[in-house]
Amino acid sequence: MPGTGPMLLALHGIGASKGIAIGKVYMVERGHLDVQEKRLPKPRVEAEVRRFRNALGAARKELEAVKDRIPEEAGPEIAAFIDTHLLMLEDAALSSEPVRHIRELRCNAGWALKLQRDALVAVFDAMEDPYLRTRRDDVNHVVDRVQRILTSGRRRRTQVMPVKGRIVFADDLTPADTVLMQHQGVLAMITEYGGPTSHTAILARSLRIPAVVGLHDSRPYLRNDETVIVDGREGVVLVNPGRETVRHYRRLASQLERKQGALLKLKKAPAVTADGESVVLQANVELPSDVELVGQVGAAGVGLYRTEFLFMNREVPPDEEEQYAAYRQVAGAVPGAPVTIRTLDLGADKQVDGSRPGAPTTSNPALGLRAVRLCLKEQSLFKPQVRAILRVAAESPVRMMIPMLATTQELAQVLQIVKDCGRELAAEGRAFDARIPIGAMIEVPAAAVCADIFARRLDFLSIGTNDLIQYTIAIDRVDDEVNYLYDPLHPAVLRLIQITIRAGQKAGIPVAMCGEMAGDSRYTRLLLGLGLKEFSVHPNALLDIKHVINESHVGEMRKLTARLMRTAKTVSRDALMDEMNRTLDL
Ligand code: PEP
Ligand code: MG
Repeated sequence: MPGTGPMLLALHGIGASKGIAIGKVYMVERGHLDVQEKRLPKPRVEAEVRRFRNALGAARKELEAVKDRIPEEAGPEIAAFIDTHLLMLEDAALSSEPVRHIRELRCNAGWALKLQRDALVAVFDAMEDPYLRTRRDDVNHVVDRVQRILTSGRRRRTQVMPVKGRIVFADDLTPADTVLMQHQGVLAMITEYGGPTSHTAILARSLRIPAVVGLHDSRPYLRNDETVIVDGREGVVLVNPGRETVRHYRRLASQLERKQGALLKLKKAPAVTADGESVVLQANVELPSDVELVGQVGAAGVGLYRTEFLFMNREVPPDEEEQYAAYRQVAGAVPGAPVTIRTLDLGADKQVDGSRPGAPTTSNPALGLRAVRLCLKEQSLFKPQVRAILRVAAESPVRMMIPMLATTQELAQVLQIVKDCGRELAAEGRAFDARIPIGAMIEVPAAAVCADIFARRLDFLSIGTNDLIQYTIAIDRVDDEVNYLYDPLHPAVLRLIQITIRAGQKAGIPVAMCGEMAGDSRYTRLLLGLGLKEFSVHPNALLDIKHVINESHVGEMRKLTARLMRTAKTVSRDALMDEMNRTLDL
């Protein structure tokens, strides 16, 4: 089987969370996708047959690519193992029978394939021969591959796994998986799929779990309990490292820690540029327990509290009282400092449970019923949160932030709900803040273009670059295949950021940035040059960003940024970025 003998192998992916981990692998088995039956109208049947055949073709290409990447030293058994899967794809049992089901039952391809898988597995199960059992596993692997291509969906997996002190390898992890595994003491995470600004990656960074994503087709090269080194900075996983390599990485890990230690000296220093401009530097929080970190790095408040994580890994959503307690905990951890609570942003890649609102019902969930859209539709989910936030605001400087606003109608509806909740609370005699500052995330291009309209009606704006980039360049933030196109420096993105900052300035309201771009020190000077005065970043990046701010001259950055905004050429743009960052050790 793959990986025989102590051969050093380097697997390359995308570094999603910095840090180095050395440990033993725990392989998460591929689960079966949860496929639902759909009846098709007659005219769509042949298109579904074509879709199925295309998926078979894509699966074949994937397997051939795996075969091409097998190292020569790996031995013939690995190629034979992949050939078996290729042959299965050709077999009538998997290529023709599902087509018959699609036509006869007029059902979706995924369902037809599932029926055929169930039939084949039942036959193998009845045989009880160990060799045939292996063939049954092969059927499952091949069918999973095709199902994944058909749905591009993500399966749910919530069972407890023995991941303590180990490096988890999975095809993909959801944010809910990530939180669970952190609780179970996982050392690092490596996945075949996923992008660096996915919510899973963001969580991994905030939980300080080194992570590498997008390690395509690496499953055959890893085995349970094998030692690997995960280098989350470079996006590399080393399999079977020798003693020298391990020693080298241990040294690197302690150097990183020392650098972090040196930055800690900046904890109490103000965030002020070299030419005297003050900058507000706040932290992003995913879980109430993260606020400990916020205090440790001396953040000037919380610029983004992603409340949706409170709703994950549970059957019933938290009620108003539980939310009130959680929000109080966060506000109490940074006494006197502002805390920006973002209302629920469930949907797309942040699912709580397939049976509740927010489950993936469309093929394009990032454009579907997500965030404020879901909240306005499911007001029983939204109102307890609004009430809890209003109540906490009576006690501490809390702000409310709405994600994914795209239209002024949505804003009007939200403001009405806030008013209604205030009235209810008043009638119940509960304390609340009727004048709570309400702001919006600018993360949909339509909202950025119309930022002036929103700015007139709101108390603050915060730019969510993770989604703004996704929607502007049409790049799925969780899809590592198109990650190379995910470019914060795309002129369209920079123009939208500039439009938003200017709209805020004109309306006299603050504009922050809370997307991952704000926490990447390569862009700090550019953002200062664009006029950004408020950054909200994950606590682990905060001191690094403060260091850059303190070492920057905004006046100079403005000039360089103005030149960069005029240039159309990528080379000139890169040269200007280099010039901006010249004096930095990035
Ligand atoms: C963003 O989109 O940039 C953002 C901060 O929100 P999230 O990453 O939670 O979608
Ligand atoms: Mg967002």
